[in-house]
Amino acid sequence: MSCGLCLNDCPTYRIIGDEADSPRGRIHLVREMLATPGAPKASTVEHLEACLVCRACETACPSLVPFGRIMEGAREEIADRRAPGGPRGRIRAALVDVVTRPRLLRVLSSLASLYDRIGMRALARRVLPRRLAEMQSLLPLPEGAPYRPRGRSDADVQLVAGCVMAVAFGETQRATARLLEGAGRSVGSPEAQVCCGALHAHAGLGQRARELARSNIEAFGDGERPIVVTAAGCGAHLRAYGHLLRDDPGYADRASRFAARVRDASEVLAPADARRSLGRPVRVVYQDACHLAHGQGIRRQPRDLLRAIDGVELVAIADPERCCGSAGIYNLTHPEVATQLQRQKVAAILAARPDAVVSANPGCILQIQGGLRAAGSDVRVVHLMRALDDPASLSKGASPSKR
Ligand code: SF4
Ligand code: SF4
Repeated sequence: MSCGLCLNDCPTYRIIGDEADSPRGRIHLVREMLATPGAPKASTVEHLEACLVCRACETACPSLVPFGRIMEGAREEIADRRAPGGPRGRIRAALVDVVTRPRLLRVLSSLASLYDRIGMRALARRVLPRRLAEMQSLLPLPEGAPYRPRGRSDADVQLVAGCVMAVAFGETQRATARLLEGAGRSVGSPEAQVCCGALHAHAGLGQRARELARSNIEAFGDGERPIVVTAAGCGAHLRAYGHLLRDDPGYADRASRFAARVRDASEVLAPADARRSLGRPVRVVYQDACHLAHGQGIRRQPRDLLRAIDGVELVAIADPERCCGSAGIYNLTHPEVATQLQRQKVAAILAARPDAVVSANPGCILQIQGGLRAAGSDVRVVHLMRALDDPASLSKGASPSKR
């Protein structure tokens, strides 16, 4: 259609101001690349790699162009053609490898914790060059012990442990299980599950993404039990397994059935399950994660759950669905654009004068937390499930934001 109605909603177009960094421009580049044999031009690779895959353009597009799928396919095509001149792509592949290995993540997370305890983080903020200081603020600090998945034969819901979620947000995962059990569900979490593969798919590592999808289909098994997710990026990708394995005759049908069972935790809980009292009013900003709002169309449920906590006042911010710049590992591969988006988000949050920010995605939490700290703010940033399980985490001193 090339109508351009998506342009104003594209964060990279608004920052970079180049048509080639807009959804319409990128679709044009993908078309051109597919029509031209051989390695794609370095400039094409750069513009396609600069996309956040935030999918805001999908929400804006009246023609329902599936931009996320187009971009993942294009990146796989780039990887297959072994394009030269894509150093950021190679960095991204190496980073994907680190972030999706729980054992390695656990070691990094423990080092980050030690680094924080001995005061290095505060020192680094003062002495490191600005870019490095911003990057070190994104190091995930563990929230208690890691979450260890444990299968249960009588489980009626299955919890996705996640990579970053299991290592750095262990307490949030246990809180999710408590909430679900409190709502009368029995919760299992298959021990054989692996990374969902979202970051691999975004990086064009399609073959690895498909291997991981097959492993998860085996680990979670067939049947009807909901597969519950607490990370927006993982949920959006798990729902796409049917598309990812559509050409695999051994798995296509099972993948579609698997995808149909995926639920964000906010869809499984009802406001009655979250009814608690805070004892005092707390102003809360709910941050829409791109892969929850644009990727899965989930906007109302998290807000309804938060409103069920007596004392919570939800306050609106400007451009609530604009990406915060986290976007998987985009903040590491494209720190210039990511930092601008982070600052815009932090400014919008601070203008609303909240006591806490709530999100349902680990990347957004770390990105916003880092931005708020850099701005000298102590506003708390809490995962939705943690807030519902323990509403005092929205206001008390020893909060997850102080991790
Ligand atoms: S996915 Fe996001 S960054 Fe990429 S073109 Fe669409 S709106 Fe722009
Ligand atoms: S992606 Fe959709 S909104 Fe954007 S130019 Fe194409 S048809 Fe128009």
